[in-house]
Amino acid sequence: MSWQAKRYHDISCGHRVVGHEGKCRHLHGHNYRVHFTCEADELDNVGRVIDFSDMKSKLCMWLEENWDHKMLLWEHDPVANVLTDKIKTGDGTTLDDGIVLVPFNPTAENIAQHLVLVVGPQQLKGTGIKLTYCEVEETRKCSAVYALRPKKNNSRQM
Ligand SMILES: [Zn+2]
Repeated sequence: MSWQAKRYHDISCGHRVVGHEGKCRHLHGHNYRVHFTCEADELDNVGRVIDFSDMKSKLCMWLEENWDHKMLLWEHDPVANVLTDKIKTGDGTTLDDGIVLVPFNPTAENIAQHLVLVVGPQQLKGTGIKLTYCEVEETRKCSAVYALRPKKNNSRQM
């Protein structure tokens, strides 16, 4: 795949990293910037990998609807049991409304991998376009990347 289209989106999320040696084990949050790269074998009739507005509606809006202003917790995190225990808050809602249980310890690396391996294929199904690369910035100084490796061609080894 030669063509790439890129778009980023900003969300705010809470999380904590289970097993972290320092302060990241505490409940805290980040203003995440998530960079998506889509690839296609061929451009469409207009000359695009994917319309940028489709990247927005399929990928950025997924973040907006599922993770923005929510608390991402690993499903095996003992804290998750406490916070999802239907605690009534003053306004009659329950605290667990904003808790998202994820099947991974929510480091930037694991978030990027989940977006490439699970969310991308689900959101881009049927389009022929792949989300091949995702960079998750926790701060403007620190980020992690997950990228699909390009398939090796079947050249015979001599
Ligand atoms: Zn953090």
